[in-house]
Amino acid sequence: MAIPKSKFIWMDGKFVDWDAATVHVGTHALHYGSSVFEGIRAYSTPRGPALFQLDAHVDRLFAGCKVYRMPIPFAREQMRDAIVELVRVNELQSCYVRPLVFRGADNFSLDPRKCPVQVTILAFEWGRYLGPEAVEQGVDVGVSSWRRMAPGTFPALSKIGGQYINSQFVAMEANDHGYLEGIALDINGYVSEGAGENIFIFSEGILYTPPIASSILRGITRQSVLTLARDYGLPIREENIPREMLYMADEIFFTGTAAEITPIRSIDRVQIGNGARGPLTQKLQDDFFAIVEGRGEDRHGWLTHVNGAPTAPKFEMRAATPAK
Ligand code: PMP
Repeated sequence: MAIPKSKFIWMDGKFVDWDAATVHVGTHALHYGSSVFEGIRAYSTPRGPALFQLDAHVDRLFAGCKVYRMPIPFAREQMRDAIVELVRVNELQSCYVRPLVFRGADNFSLDPRKCPVQVTILAFEWGRYLGPEAVEQGVDVGVSSWRRMAPGTFPALSKIGGQYINSQFVAMEANDHGYLEGIALDINGYVSEGAGENIFIFSEGILYTPPIASSILRGITRQSVLTLARDYGLPIREENIPREMLYMADEIFFTGTAAEITPIRSIDRVQIGNGARGPLTQKLQDDFFAIVEGRGEDRHGWLTHVNGAPTAPKFEMRAATPAK
């Protein structure tokens, strides 16, 4: 799906026209993947658009930049306000927001720290990532021959641009094999995660998910689903998951900002459970969607209402000059 255009992009502290948000081909990030990014959703609620887990996303962005030694030239509050303001000025309802911090053009040294740090935020109208039927009927996926990065090679917990080449291999292979998504194992052969999703397995009344040491991204939807499961008093285990446990599970689902909560109905053409969305998956979805769409009580304080939020310090609105 091509990205639908919205009016403004936030670029280095200013709102610029969508078509003017360009970079130089010498941009370090273009050559070496030198970036840290986020993916955030806003949902349409009766009180207008609301961003889901905004602070957790901003925190993860800053943490990733800290790991990567790339100081963000804006304060946390400025980034937060810029995201809220961008949804507002673009008059978006349900949308996806993509903050990106990257090393700009200066030199091609593999120590990037002399390159300028640039910051952009893109927001656009967006629906279901894995297709509109996926959340109800489930998806067919396969275990990839590509492993997740081994500990001590890349910092898997940070959302660093270059690391997504690994996810691209997983996704391409899955699509070539006729699957909607691929699941990568970690370097030790335990289940890690999807190309862009965390994974949960429900088996014999226990909810399992791989631990952070299995080279996963610590997904914010994962954390939210764990919170809901704790609300239900479900036994939860964050522990190494052998591949064969996938085929033996009662229910399996993906979580992610894009994928939300998506049931998996088959893995490697093996039917999972009864091949349809299971009751726990449905309960989590019902609860999750009621909260994010403002139909249920926001009992964990996950939403930031764009219209209710304090107005950001005035950002300059102007036609763009291309980034230096
Ligand atoms: N794993 C990877 C590799 C991802 O890219 C994502 C999407 N950000 C996730 C898991 C899910 O994380 P979140 O729930 O924070 O979107």
